[in-house]
This record gives sequence, C-alpha cells and structure tokens, in this order.
Amino acid sequence: MSDIILATEGLTKEFRGFIAVNDVTLRVRAGTIHALIGPNGAGKTTCFNLLTKFLQPTRGTIHFKDRDITGMRPAEVARLGLVRSFQISAVFAHLSALENVRVALQRARGGSFDFWRSEEVLHHYDHRARELLEDVGLGDHVDTPAVALSYGRKRALEIATTLALDPEMMLLDEPTAGMTHEDVERIVALIRRVRRGRTILMVEHNLSVVEGLCDTLTVLTRGRVLAEGDYAAVSNNPEVISAYLGT
Ligand code: ADP
Repeated sequence: MSDIILATEGLTKEFRGFIAVNDVTLRVRAGTIHALIGPNGAGKTTCFNLLTKFLQPTRGTIHFKDRDITGMRPAEVARLGLVRSFQISAVFAHLSALENVRVALQRARGGSFDFWRSEEVLHHYDHRARELLEDVGLGDHVDTPAVALSYGRKRALEIATTLALDPEMMLLDEPTAGMTHEDVERIVALIRRVRRGRTILMVEHNLSVVEGLCDTLTVLTRGRVLAEGDYAAVSNNPEVISAYLGT
C-alpha cells in the first residue's frame, strides 16, 4: 500500500496562454503536514483551486487515495475526504459560532430540514458542535456571532467548520495570514491539536510557522516545483534562497 494520499502528475493550468501552474508533480504522504510555499504569483492558489476542483487543469492528473479525481466536482472530492478550509462566508456572519458549526455538521450529513428539526438530532449536533468549538479554543465563545469574533478566532471557527466534515485531508489556505503574533501561536497550537492523524496541506507565508509545523515543504516558483524536502534542506537550498530574495 502506498502511503501517498494525494498525488499529482504533470499538473498544468494555463490562463489564455499564461502558464500559472507548470507540470507540477506533487506527492503528499498520509498523516503529514505538507507546506506549499513560494513567492507571490508562484501558482500556490491556482494549485489549491486545481486540487479542490474549483479549476479544471489544462493537463495532468490528480489522485486522492488512489482514485483519479481529475474530472470530479468539488462536492464529490469533499465527500471523499479532501476538504478545503474557507474563510467564513458573509452569509453566516450573524449566526453564532455554535450555529455555524451546527450548519456545517448538518451539511456534512446531508440531513433534510425535517430530519434536522428532530430533538434527538438537534441535541446530537449541538453536543458535537460544542466539542469542536472546545477543540479549537472557542469554548467560551459558542454564542458569539461570527461577525463579532476577533480575526484570529474567526479563523479558528473556520477550522472548526472544516473539522465538522471530519476530513481525512485538509487544505488550509494561509491559516495565519494577517494575524498578530499571539494569534499565530494559537492557530499553530490548534493545528497541532486537531490534526489527529489527518493529512494537512497548507499554503503558508510565515516560514517560522512552516518550520515549526510542517514535515515536508514544496517550493513553487513561476508555476514550477523548485525544491522539495524538510525545512532544513529547503531553507539551505541556494536556488530557494535566490527565488525568495528575487536575485
Ligand atoms: P500565488 O498564490 O502563489 O500568489 P496564484 O496561483 O494566485 O499565485 O497566481 C499565479 C499566476 O497566475 C499569477 O501570475 C496570476 O496573476 C495568474 N492567475 C491566477 N489566476 C488567474 C486567472 N483566473 N486568469 C489569469 N491569470 C491568473
């Protein structure tokens, strides 16, 4: 059995002649935290959009758990256990933290409205939602509307709603972007706590977060894989250093 949970082969995306992702071969080992790093415009976001099927590749294939997911729709990929964490959508801004997670749990189970209204089911979701909020450090904020949470706590709520889907693999898009030092430390501790054998692929600009959290790094520049390895190997690679310094 291969321990590779996600694999791409020759993944390529062109936008009207411009090659944003160029022949990328990526291997993510199950149970690891893997970082996708690189300067702005390197193709990281496009890669994420390809992996979660929000974009169709121009060429190449994507396999998740040995299944070819290249032609699948985002919802199908999510059902297989590959889930991307999004920033809380404005639609749920006025729902409480608890309600946001309950909605995510309900969606994960695909329950109909009547099913959803039964006392027993409500109680079950309520209990599970509280557990998840406790896990991400929002136990004291269950009734706070999402809109009133601090930025760092919103990102923690976003992770709780992703965990509600119980994904085997999570894609985190810059989980610490725009955070204070304190919030960065909190989110790093949170990711460590909630990973529980899950695989995580994250785009992350903060290299000290990557160093502390990630087993493997893939460096992209101009759509191509420039280097891959652990933090020590990658950060000492002269090509990586010059790509980051723009020399
Ligand atoms: P990163 O996330 O590493 O900053 P992106 O994946 O956002 O990089 O972008 C890679 C390149 O592809 C950039 O030059 C960007 O301008 C270009 N690009 C991204 N999306 C589109 C699009 N929809 N149409 C045209 N060009 C795009």
